[in-house]
Amino acid sequence: RSSDIQALQQRLTEAGVKYAIASYVDIHGISKGKFVPVAHLGQMMAGSELYTGAALDGVPQDISDDEVAAIPDAANLAICPWNRQLAWFPGSLYLNGRPFEACSRNILIRQLEAARGMGYRCNLGIETEFFLFRDTGDGGFAPLSDRDTAGKPCYDPRALMDNLPIMDALVAAMNELGWDVYSFDHEDANGQFETDFRYADALTMADRLVFFRLMANEIARRHGAFASFMPKPFADRTGSGAHYNLSLADLETGDNLFEPRGDDPHDCGVSRLAYHFIAGVLRHGAAISAVIAPTVNSYKRLVRQGSMSGSTWAPVFLCYGSNNRTNMIRIPGAGGRIECRAADIACNPYLGAALILAAGLEGIREGLEPGAPHHENMYNYRDAEIAAQGIRYLPRSLGEAIEAFAADPLAREVFGEAMFQAFVDYKTDEWQSYQNHVSAWEIERYLKLF
Ligand code: GLU
Ligand code: MG
Ligand code: MG
Repeated sequence: RSSDIQALQQRLTEAGVKYAIASYVDIHGISKGKFVPVAHLGQMMAGSELYTGAALDGVPQDISDDEVAAIPDAANLAICPWNRQLAWFPGSLYLNGRPFEACSRNILIRQLEAARGMGYRCNLGIETEFFLFRDTGDGGFAPLSDRDTAGKPCYDPRALMDNLPIMDALVAAMNELGWDVYSFDHEDANGQFETDFRYADALTMADRLVFFRLMANEIARRHGAFASFMPKPFADRTGSGAHYNLSLADLETGDNLFEPRGDDPHDCGVSRLAYHFIAGVLRHGAAISAVIAPTVNSYKRLVRQGSMSGSTWAPVFLCYGSNNRTNMIRIPGAGGRIECRAADIACNPYLGAALILAAGLEGIREGLEPGAPHHENMYNYRDAEIAAQGIRYLPRSLGEAIEAFAADPLAREVFGEAMFQAFVDYKTDEWQSYQNHVSAWEIERYLKLF
């Protein structure tokens, strides 16, 4: 409404904002958008900012197609804490006045509507693991905290203290936006950090993850560093997950429906409904991997062992259990939610949340059962034992994942035909280009071997 827009305009102007960013995302979940002077906010909110979809990675449009408009969602706007002249508005794409089917954010919105139709609201918390590096000037990079290479840097307060100026700036920025950070730490690889903040509805959390990567990068740059969201920059150290912590709430009462009420058949700390949800996610787990572990590099994270620190803490198997980090799905101690651990920090959170939610809802609709939980360390099993128990592996490469995605009718339905095809084509290309590439490892190993 025009009075609302005027009030917003006034609020932003009073806060010193000069430009609004009408943002939307490409296939990677990376924020794109034009800058609009606040005087033109009304037009921007009405969809004045038009884009040629074909200019972006993986947006299924031809250069001759009608342009798409980014319609900002003022509910989740963020005044950029590192530059308060800028207000970032997440937005969805529209084509000729109607929601553009192949927009990542719309894909999640459609799934949230499906959940609402069943009486649920979806809550989501995403844990952000990432690296802080500096350019070494010779084309290389080095972790910001490197004081403990001999031991385990995990939870090392010294490494965090060394980098407190940058981490404090990031955490303060998150809190300025009302995200409510409850802890942050140094993770298990040198230069790896994590910030944890309060869950929200799934759309808000997806908007926040997109903005988080933008913000962490900008804040790091101001400190002479850069943030990396590459899932596994070092072969011998842990990678960066983006664990999705999910629950469904009753639309009317807001009650957490994953909280058990005397109906926890497997004694893991969640309700029967949550087990159906888990069963759906496991059924579609291979296709989901293509979306939440979307790069060639993602599959170097999803392995048992890192030679430096022993465990990678990353899942390898399509199964679930209680406080167990080797399964795709963990039910953390406090219960009442499930944690999907296969996701990494390079994911497009709209697409990831949409497909996980769709799979979970299918599990609920069909009353699927996930079988018995695995509380044991799955890394200790040999292949034969895994096979004997009928446990499936998560895909072991992007190629395998994308094959599973392409074969999954649910993925097609959730993404819509155009985006489904675009995703398969883009990722197949990415995989083939990797396979055709000859790596330094191969040269070193084979060039003079024979
Ligand atoms: N970095 C691990 C991963 O790749 C997770 C470690 C943890 O559980 O916090 O998922
Ligand atoms: Mg962690
Ligand atoms: Mg976690």
